[in-house]
Amino acid sequence: MADVDLIKSRLTAHPDFPKKGIVFLDIFPILRDPQVFEALISHVVHHITSHSVGLASNNKIDVIVGLDARGFLLGPIVALRLGAAFVPVRKKGKLPGQCIQASYEKEYGTDVFEMQADAIQSGQNVVVIDDLIATGGSAKAAGELVKNLGGNVLEYIFIIELLFLKASSKLDAPVYSIVQTD
Ligand code: IMP
Repeated sequence: MADVDLIKSRLTAHPDFPKKGIVFLDIFPILRDPQVFEALISHVVHHITSHSVGLASNNKIDVIVGLDARGFLLGPIVALRLGAAFVPVRKKGKLPGQCIQASYEKEYGTDVFEMQADAIQSGQNVVVIDDLIATGGSAKAAGELVKNLGGNVLEYIFIIELLFLKASSKLDAPVYSIVQTD
């Protein structure tokens, strides 16, 4: 099976989770099978080395930024394979030291993301990773944090993209997703 089909075959849909009307797509079955998890990580690393690096003036990715919380499952492994740094974006109040903040719209009200102020140096090339992009609000806030520290977001990478929400039009860099749903 091709790696994309393999990855797709392990995604599970959970109607009415975490609340009525929402169909939650779960990536954890991918992580339960080392062969499929390896296919996922290799796919992302191959995309970055064959595509994202070409978007950098110096052909180098310095930092992988992962979003709270499932971006933490993918980001550090991808970063290690690339020889890049991993930097987390967390919900407000979870990171020690001086932090910068960006707020984003949720279904009900707003939430705040934070990044440690010394985590990214000016001019560094960054790829942002998460499991799923829906409205794009959280990815946009992460991009703002990177930009505020002087970093360049080259690309946003997700396992799943909910195409009907047209999130990519909100972001200031290209979106790459492995699986798209309508
Ligand atoms: P957005 O900010 O509207 O793009 O929502 C994306 C965020 O919500 C990501 O951090 C996802 O992990 C999470 N999310 C929303 N829906 C799902 C889902 O169906 N499965 C997994 N994560 C989801």
